[in-house]
Amino acid sequence: MSGTGIGVVLVVEDNDKSLKLACDLLAFSGYQAVPARTGGEALALVRERDFDLVLMDVQLPDMDGVATLEAIRAAGRCADTPIVAVTAFAMKGDRERLLGQGFDGYVSKPIDVATFVGDVAALMRVAR
Ligand code: MN
Repeated sequence: MSGTGIGVVLVVEDNDKSLKLACDLLAFSGYQAVPARTGGEALALVRERDFDLVLMDVQLPDMDGVATLEAIRAAGRCADTPIVAVTAFAMKGDRERLLGQGFDGYVSKPIDVATFVGDVAALMRVAR
């Protein structure tokens, strides 16, 4: 977490409604939410600044969330930043598969407005 106590969260999501919902929920709770709609956009943003957490949609139009995660790590960015998969995949085993692919956590879609911010706060404390 940055010294100010305000968490900065990169939200990578290609669906406009889902992106707005996530960013609005975070902003309402005092986080700074930075939106990105593609993997390429996310990669450019992490090269420019540090984040306290990255929420990564798995299904993206250019490179998918797994490829974006790998590109971010390969670029040496977000070394201490949890990168969390956000996906509608709800089948048993998906969580383990995504964690095996290098994600630090998992949030399922659709976002549950009652638990989302609490989940994000907990994930932000996950040590890398
Ligand atoms: Mn998507």
